[in-house]
Amino acid sequence: MRPPYLLLDVDGVLIPFPDEHGSTPTTHARHDVVPAGRSADNPVTVWLDPAHGRLLMNVIRAGLVTPVWCTSWRQDAATLIGPLLGLPPLPHVDLPRPQITTSHPNGYLWKRDHVDAWLADAPAVWIDDDFTSLDHAWAAERAARGTATLLVQPDPHLGLQPEHLTEVTKWASQLTAAHAA
Ligand SMILES: [Mg+2]
Repeated sequence: MRPPYLLLDVDGVLIPFPDEHGSTPTTHARHDVVPAGRSADNPVTVWLDPAHGRLLMNVIRAGLVTPVWCTSWRQDAATLIGPLLGLPPLPHVDLPRPQITTSHPNGYLWKRDHVDAWLADAPAVWIDDDFTSLDHAWAAERAARGTATLLVQPDPHLGLQPEHLTEVTKWASQLTAAHAA
């Protein structure tokens, strides 16, 4: 069995949202990055936790999942965000750039239809802070059809926690063991 995909969001997962006082967790370090198509004198400030790099590398090295960026950062996740965390170049889901003013234009995460098509019938664990109940229903239906699917949803103000990756590893290990049995 091919390892399941690990779809990884950036904003609200690796880059937490500021709290009401505008501050970010003290675990995170400031970086200024210049996304593709943006001028060098107009960088974007991001806050990243170096511990995330180590935690994600542990998951990647275990070989139980195939990691893929799934973020509005698109290719920039691989070229700008990953290296700051010490991650190797990873592929990304080539999401479109819809003209939307909400992340849930149809009541569910805007990425989902693209992810659904991209995955086809591949098993996947998807970490994103922005799922709605309709996304959870989609995942449950997928799993009920026999395509292992897990959604992991960090609190966007806290971002990814070690226990989220523990859950990913446990889920992927059980899946691998079930296929080997
Ligand atoms: Mg997000």
